[in-house]
Amino acid sequence: MSEENIYDLIIIGGGPGGMSAGIYAMRAALKTVLIEKGLPGGQVAMSAEVENYPSYENIGGSELSEKFVQHAKSYGMEMITSEVKALLPGLDYHRVHLDNGDVLTTHAVILATGGTPRKLNIPGEDEYYGKGISYCAVCDGFFFRDKTVVVVGGGDTAAEEGLYLAKLCRQVYLVHRRDQLRAGMILQQRVKAECKMEVIWNTVATAIKADADGVTAIELKDVNTGQKKELATDGVFIFIGFDPNNQLVPAGTKMNADGYVVTDDKCETNTPGIYVIGDLREKYARQIVIAAADGATAALAAAHYVEAKKAAAADDTCELPEALLQGAS
Ligand code: NAP
Repeated sequence: MSEENIYDLIIIGGGPGGMSAGIYAMRAALKTVLIEKGLPGGQVAMSAEVENYPSYENIGGSELSEKFVQHAKSYGMEMITSEVKALLPGLDYHRVHLDNGDVLTTHAVILATGGTPRKLNIPGEDEYYGKGISYCAVCDGFFFRDKTVVVVGGGDTAAEEGLYLAKLCRQVYLVHRRDQLRAGMILQQRVKAECKMEVIWNTVATAIKADADGVTAIELKDVNTGQKKELATDGVFIFIGFDPNNQLVPAGTKMNADGYVVTDDKCETNTPGIYVIGDLREKYARQIVIAAADGATAALAAAHYVEAKKAAAADDTCELPEALLQGAS
């Protein structure tokens, strides 16, 4: 196959991780294409404001994601809007199948498809997202300083994020559907000891209400009695689990029990030339700055990988020096 038709690098996913990978790949002179099925930007594009991306004290989520896109495009990075149907690793090249039937061939792939917070699927949840409903306390907690918020969920994330919010907010209600938290014992003890937190047991959220200024209340139902009540709140934080978007991860790739891909410190998977970055990668924290850093790491590693692969191929096809050819005759 002619090298002309082969990409050095295909990036799948256009959030901060994928865009950052694109910037570094273009600067490393890799023939790169980024494929995104929808609008680029990932989860950050849906955040109202971002206050923890270094160098911006406050920036709109969509504005920040647009800056990522413009920066990558300024190097002439090719972008395709299409849904990737399959990523098939190969010994020589990897192949990326698009929904329009095209098949792209590449030396390396960076998978940056992120993850999706689980939803309650109740009235108001989609409607008021970004107007008082959030899936990230570290990102949005600051906007609720000295206010009242409701956290839904009973796992480690709900407990940790609830404790984080308790440092900022006047009151945090933790709404859990059972009479015992799933969170680990230490977190349970901390929740109990936190005077600004109150757990509302055996209760599910059934609707979120808002006015023109944002969320005003949450409707709750006691699962034992069926009784409904409305609780006034300025915000609702939902932490009922997070699903990594791992549908494209090739079979045989090492993943942990929760479906996150295990990589080395270069973000490389156990398949050479396939890298995973951002929220899909097993890691300690999921933040924009960390996804961007992953993108840089993986692109630099991919550049090194592609260069070494091409050098090895060139060595194999080298013609023997003339002196040697004469000696052989
Ligand atoms: P999780 O452990 O799956 O907990 C989800 C919580 O949400 C559970 O309490 C569950 O209730 C509740 N829930 C699920 N669906 C619901 C619904 N439709 N309505 C109401 N409640 C619902 O998720 P996670 O807390 O995000 O944690 C994910 C993984 O990361 C876990 O393995 C966790 O240990 C790990 N983690 C670890 C740390 C840490 O070690 N520091 C921090 C964060 C996360 P039930 O309990 O009734 O099922």
